[in-house]
Amino acid sequence: MHFDIPFQIENYINGKFQHPISGSFIDNVNPATGKVYGKIPNSNDEDVDKAVVAANAALKSWSATSTESRFKILNKIAELIDENLEALALAETNDNGKPLWLSKEVDIPRASSNFRFFATAAMQFSSESHAMEGGINYTLRQPVGIVGCISPWNLPLYLFTWKIAPALAAGNCVIAKPSETTPVSAYLLAKICKEAGLPDGVLNILHGDGPSCGEAIVKHPSIKAISFTGSTKAGERIASIAAPMFKKLSLELGGKNPNIIFADCDWDKMIYNTIRSSFGNQGQICLCCSRILIEASIYERFKMTFVERTKKLTIGDPLVDSSKQGAIVSKVHFEKIINCIDIAKKEGGTILCGGKSVSPSGRCENGYFIEPTIIENLGPNCKTNKEEIFGPVVTIQPFHSVEEALALANATDYGLSCTIWTQDIAKANHVASKIESGIVWINCWLQRDLRTPFGGVKNSGVGREGGLEAMRFFTEAKNVCIQY
Ligand code: NAD
Repeated sequence: MHFDIPFQIENYINGKFQHPISGSFIDNVNPATGKVYGKIPNSNDEDVDKAVVAANAALKSWSATSTESRFKILNKIAELIDENLEALALAETNDNGKPLWLSKEVDIPRASSNFRFFATAAMQFSSESHAMEGGINYTLRQPVGIVGCISPWNLPLYLFTWKIAPALAAGNCVIAKPSETTPVSAYLLAKICKEAGLPDGVLNILHGDGPSCGEAIVKHPSIKAISFTGSTKAGERIASIAAPMFKKLSLELGGKNPNIIFADCDWDKMIYNTIRSSFGNQGQICLCCSRILIEASIYERFKMTFVERTKKLTIGDPLVDSSKQGAIVSKVHFEKIINCIDIAKKEGGTILCGGKSVSPSGRCENGYFIEPTIIENLGPNCKTNKEEIFGPVVTIQPFHSVEEALALANATDYGLSCTIWTQDIAKANHVASKIESGIVWINCWLQRDLRTPFGGVKNSGVGREGGLEAMRFFTEAKNVCIQY
């Protein structure tokens, strides 16, 4: 396919690209250069109404489409994503600031895996039956209807497709909104869906900010379920609107994940993965571990090696292969992270490395770059260790016992994921059972099997995505009881 990305991108409603009804657009900035390089619609309730009319018209036919036909279309979308990897990866990097090699290796391949995975799920999804004395129950799993999918900027196409693919596979029509900070890959996905033969109106992609476009989706009475990934603050607002309307709600929210390192770990594997889990995607992955807890007996050795390795990470132009760290996604987020580093200093934290912004020479001199930053000497109750920063900033804290490690790990309002490094499997399983989080990795990080339940506890969210959990979220269970 040939992709022309116009300066002004458009909404995709009923199979057609169109301007927002209000004519209102917002700037799209490349965070690596700091320059405006496009405009995106700031859609509102009128555009959502239009998309709902289109989705409603398509729903009867799409929900009755055979699972094999749905499989073929979703699988075709996966193939087209793979075929257009270069263009999609470049769009992702220009919008987000992440290294191009990362977009090519992780973001775009995962977007096609999402479609491929849920294409087959459409064929294999089944429901329960319950035999009883004198009769039997069977459960129908029917599409919810029109559903809303709202996603963030950190893994743009990866997370957008993680919601859309199961929603479509289950027979729903979708109104989807990518982050206004990273809209272009979603715009290109619309072109791919059209080419793949997805019928008009089945997927409608609207662009715009949260208060105007996002809330119009959440408030619309015909949109029966909302799948949201983003900040805890926005999740709270969305829940306050959707709950009184009795909508189905899946909320994947913020995190403050611990990385627990015991003295008996596989040292090299732990160090390699701790660099990744601390600073991958500039620390802007919901699963990054921003609080590193180290058994006291190896604390000094860890500190020395970790700081030394972190200082070697090359920060620079995301289009250059050797850049390990790209730009922070936006000026607003860049300023938030710099402010968090200042707070850490005021709280008495010692900056072991990093702590400053960087201005690479050449085309990226006005981009938003921050050095990977390691902070020590902060206890569990300070703001730095309690609140999500979502950038290349981690703290290190020593612990003396399993109990102390658990107390430190659980000392936040978040509970998304946790990583444990030890060769003692009994200890690892004990910590896994006591940790307050939805996802636990033992001796690995970011290993994803798309069949597993994904989500958090406490302020990290409500509900689970992935595999059957997603297919169940996007369907309504109807029990039918038959007496013999
Ligand atoms: P955000 O909450 O600002 O925005 C996320 C999306 O919601 C965007 O599309 C935005 O336009 C929209 N939105 C914002 N306010 C809204 C409202 N009132 N109504 C409807 N939609 C609204 O989050 P962000 O800054 O884009 O992303 C970073 C956050 O996402 C971090 O907190 C991170 O931890 C979280 N995140 C969580 C997961 C997870 O799986 N738990 C994954 C990735 C990111």
